[in-house]
Amino acid sequence: MIVNKISVNKILFDSGNLFSLAIEMTLTSQFTLLTEIDPDPVELVNASSQVPLLLLCEHAGHAIPKSLKNLGLDKSTLSSHRAWDIGAETLARKLAQRINAPLILQRYSRLVIDPNRPPGSSESIPEISDRIEISANKNLDFNEREARRQAIFEPMDQAIQAAFDFSERKAAFSIHSYTPVFDGHEREWNAGFLSRKSLSTAESLINSVAQMKPDLNLAINQPYQIDDETDWFIPQHAEKRLLPHCLIEIRNDQINHETGVSQWVKLLAKAINDLMKGLL
Ligand SMILES: [Zn+2]
Repeated sequence: MIVNKISVNKILFDSGNLFSLAIEMTLTSQFTLLTEIDPDPVELVNASSQVPLLLLCEHAGHAIPKSLKNLGLDKSTLSSHRAWDIGAETLARKLAQRINAPLILQRYSRLVIDPNRPPGSSESIPEISDRIEISANKNLDFNEREARRQAIFEPMDQAIQAAFDFSERKAAFSIHSYTPVFDGHEREWNAGFLSRKSLSTAESLINSVAQMKPDLNLAINQPYQIDDETDWFIPQHAEKRLLPHCLIEIRNDQINHETGVSQWVKLLAKAINDLMKGLL
């Protein structure tokens, strides 16, 4: 048996900060997926911040482990919305910087394994994405699935757990983006605020954004809804902790350029600050 040791402590956190103490550990896996040349799966920004909220960006990256040979996909698919949430990483980083909040980012593409789907669910390792077949994800055996779960899904999940263990969080926000046209259908909303058990949080955010920019088309629970089968962070972490939370979806044509990102950073920072004032 090949033993692949992954130092989660090294992967997640800058040396010397307090947060690293909370998750000092070593995962031992019998499966090898990532090697020295592959990026670490999880990155934590503002790790030592004790600002009492948590930001997540599960679909920030579009890296593919070298051993998976780009999943047989061409460059245009790997840089499209199928592989990642375009613009979400930049928005999440700048937002974290602006409000000094801790942020957890995933570096690997959701086409390898989706960090926001329950492992084993039909969309966890997708065989099709917006009309493109991912043949390399078909007929995977238990070991191949488990290797992806242990190397990519698990470190992110543990980082989330560690962030909650490290310091009290009074709210959590997950930052995503979506494509303007999906499966042939246009999505007219500028942004969606998703929640099923914390609707007042979604409503508070939407009201603050609408006050600042009334011309935006904003929606609750569009273009997706939270569901146990298609979500992980909200059902498994935010709802279970009874935390005020929201999954924020921005249409990606507004955050694929600097001006748009700056505008959304400003809007979301104000909306989150308005909300937090009521929670502290
Ligand atoms: Zn997403």
